[in-house]
Amino acid sequence: MNSFTREQCADFDRLDELAEYRQQFDLEEGLIYMNGNSLGVLPKAAKDRVQEVVHEEWGRGLIRSWNTADWINLPNRVGDKIAGLIGAGEGEVVVADSTSVNLFKLAAAAVRMRQGRSKILSEPGNFPTDLYILQGLEKFQQGQVRLNTVNRNDILDAIDEDTALVVLTHVHYKSGDMFDMAAITQRAHEKGALVLWDLSHSVGAVPVQLNEAGVDLAIGCGYKYLNGGPGAPGFLFVAKRHQEQLEQPLSGWFGHANSFAMRDDYEPAPGIKRTLCGTTPVIGASLLEVGVDIMLSASMSRIREKSLQMGDLFIKLVEQRLSGFGFEIASSKDASIRGSQVSLIHEQGFAIMQALIARNVIGDFRAPNILRFGFTPLYLRYVDLWDCVDALVEIMEQEEWNRPEFKKLTAVT
Ligand SMILES: *Cc1c(COP(=O)(O)O)cnc(C)c1O
Repeated sequence: MNSFTREQCADFDRLDELAEYRQQFDLEEGLIYMNGNSLGVLPKAAKDRVQEVVHEEWGRGLIRSWNTADWINLPNRVGDKIAGLIGAGEGEVVVADSTSVNLFKLAAAAVRMRQGRSKILSEPGNFPTDLYILQGLEKFQQGQVRLNTVNRNDILDAIDEDTALVVLTHVHYKSGDMFDMAAITQRAHEKGALVLWDLSHSVGAVPVQLNEAGVDLAIGCGYKYLNGGPGAPGFLFVAKRHQEQLEQPLSGWFGHANSFAMRDDYEPAPGIKRTLCGTTPVIGASLLEVGVDIMLSASMSRIREKSLQMGDLFIKLVEQRLSGFGFEIASSKDASIRGSQVSLIHEQGFAIMQALIARNVIGDFRAPNILRFGFTPLYLRYVDLWDCVDALVEIMEQEEWNRPEFKKLTAVT
């Protein structure tokens, strides 16, 4: 195995076609941020945009801004832009609510479209909110559907004629492993089931082709790789062919055919708009648009290429410099099925991550023993990976993690 040096990493940065994107982000000097898979970094342009939205659109325009600043079309406008990142068409994506709420709306609608079938299929260890929402739906349906979780390698075989819906997270939040979206979607359709993909760790991180894969429904998160800001609204996708049959349970006035006619009876809007519920979070959606615009201006294939090179480099550096310290690599070494992160396993994972954060290198910890490192090619440098591993070497050699202050649990890890 050839071994790398910091100088070589600096050379990779000099050759990096995406290097200039870094200056569009507000990154503190000296900070190494490897947690963009959890909360993306602030785009500098978002600081101006928030001033504009708050001072001009809200402050001056007030209620008029629904028309004059086109607030009313924000969900569709930003949705159509996100469509360009996930292989969807115009009128198939809207920005709305949180990822959790969007999952409830679409999963409930899907079960309705497959009445008589009793199974929702997912995997154990899926992102918690996904399982919790499906458990909630199961209760709400009073025995008509049940959630069935099977290990990820057994999913294909578990899809049967009784399956109404398959709900999976495309890139796993913990391991970073990626499902074969096209193959699972195809099998589901062969059995007459629908699929709903959670793209929270995919959008802006790996190429996604929803329509090419024939996907029915999808949801995703705005504040991770899209850099939409904390609590940014999520998005949802409904394939054109399903839109006129889709009945979602949160039938609020923003999904009405004529929101401002103020009628007593609900009538779903034609098309994707029927998936909306209530008033758009205007500030959040406007800032999300800034992050999406930056992402759209970069080449997704270049992003993927850099992300995979970073993953391979990080794994090699860990093997080269951290062997003997008890780390295990939890992510796939096969880059083709890896998302944009690498996870390590260590029994002292929590304390090691705290020690790393104290050195201004930010990754995160997921119980019970996973250290996650996310690669965000728009603002992460190859030397950052070197410096991160270098900090880990010192933390392990000097047993820095063993200090009491790094063992105190925090509310959010
Ligand atoms: C981050 C994430 C979510 C976030 O859900 P919220 O409703 O925004 O809290 C949902 N699903 C997955 C797979 C995620 O990674």
